[in-house]
Amino acid sequence: MITEQIEALLALQDVDVTLLQLKKEAQGIPPRQEAVKANAAGARERLAQAKEAVKAAESAIKQFELDVEGLRTQQNRYRQQQMEAKDNEVYKTLGHEIEMVDEKVSAIEDQELEAMDRLEETKASVVEAEANLKEAEALVDTDVAQLEERLNVIKSTFAECKSKREALAAPVDADVMKRYMNQLQSKQDKVVVPMNELNCGGCNMKLTPQHAHDAHAGQKWVNCSYCGRMLYDRTVIKYKSKLL
Ligand SMILES: [Zn+2]
Repeated sequence: MITEQIEALLALQDVDVTLLQLKKEAQGIPPRQEAVKANAAGARERLAQAKEAVKAAESAIKQFELDVEGLRTQQNRYRQQQMEAKDNEVYKTLGHEIEMVDEKVSAIEDQELEAMDRLEETKASVVEAEANLKEAEALVDTDVAQLEERLNVIKSTFAECKSKREALAAPVDADVMKRYMNQLQSKQDKVVVPMNELNCGGCNMKLTPQHAHDAHAGQKWVNCSYCGRMLYDRTVIKYKSKLL
């Protein structure tokens, strides 16, 4: 009887659809775990960069101080030479050099002030990056573990469904099973569907009164002309899922 075969397929389909869903969810878990880890790695990288920026600002300040020191030493030499100068022209030239040093020092000190501002900003960035990293690492601990747990649940539910499946597949005729499996493989979704009024319960396209008549009679297999799914009449087959 077609109706008995349809009922058997519906029970099998419940398990198969669950297996498909579990498989899909399981496949999605490693990428989700990787994303959480990648997020933490990104936060770690940003902290390292922020620390580098602090070092760069500090060494820039140090360099400016050394430059000023060097210029001041040079300036003292000019002053010494000026005191010892016998020639008025030489005296004036050295006086000019001494002023030039003051100008250079002043310019460097401006740059040094900017670098100090930058240092404050980079230090604040380090504090922020540290907080972000802490948060991201906490997520690695919780999310990755939770996803791992979920994966274990999926694996055991999958095994349960697999063992149920064997008994449910037994009453299905071999040729029916072959057609059902082919469709299931290609659709990765339900392939035995009810008619809703005159519409296919799978693709929702409009069927003909002949489809409805044949499905109601339950004497032969009726397939949707659009998606190919196997159709049944809900008033004839009152199937209720027993799963989960
Ligand atoms: Zn259809």
